Amino acid sequence: MNIILLGPPGAGKGTQAQILKETLNIPKLSTGDMLREAVAKGTEIGKKADKIMKAGQLVPDDVIVSMVRARIAEADCRNGFILDGFPRTLTQAQFLDGPGAAQKIDKVIEIKVNDKALITRISGRFTCAKCGAGYNKETKPTAVAGICDNCGSTEFVFRADDKAETVAARLKAYNDQTAPLLPYYREKGILFSVDGMADIDEVTRQIRGIVKKAA
Ligand code: AMP
Repeated sequence: MNIILLGPPGAGKGTQAQILKETLNIPKLSTGDMLREAVAKGTEIGKKADKIMKAGQLVPDDVIVSMVRARIAEADCRNGFILDGFPRTLTQAQFLDGPGAAQKIDKVIEIKVNDKALITRISGRFTCAKCGAGYNKETKPTAVAGICDNCGSTEFVFRADDKAETVAARLKAYNDQTAPLLPYYREKGILFSVDGMADIDEVTRQIRGIVKKAA
């Protein structure tokens, strides 16, 4: 099954994609993670993307589409995949529907969250530098301050684009360029929505219900 998780930054797409990946045993393709890796490695794509990401804007479609085209052609995507953070524009969605992708999207799951909650969630989030476990200063702190619950590491990372001034640009990019994908997929009859304001387990439960439903 090929699934898209759609929603604004901070909606919980990454968290839910990770859970779904483990339940369905199919890979999670996060274009944000791919770009951050490219930036860290200093590749050509990384050099192009770095400034754009720090400004909270979208990386050009041609760069993203070629990255996703290559990734979904890999063997581990044969039994399905979960897209997290892609598509973000109509051009990207049209690529998935075209012959270049050769993969039909079965379900698009929108995670709905209100803007105020998004700002709190994004500006407080951090991850363990060692195991990648995600936390939030306000909503999900570590049990012992400064120590990862999962692996005991004391090093944490904050995303460069999670700063308050960048978050507003990212929300605007979502509302202007990505939200138009909702009617696009609604018309195709493959759009489902979950209440992203609920706690993580409840959101997971709702998503599982949608995934299990016959197409
Ligand atoms: P994310 O981790 O999904 O929030 O993505 C972080 C940043 O990477 C975004 O703010 C964009 O600058 C860039 N990015 C990720 N995915 C895409 C995409 N599908 N199209 C354009 N830019 C993207």
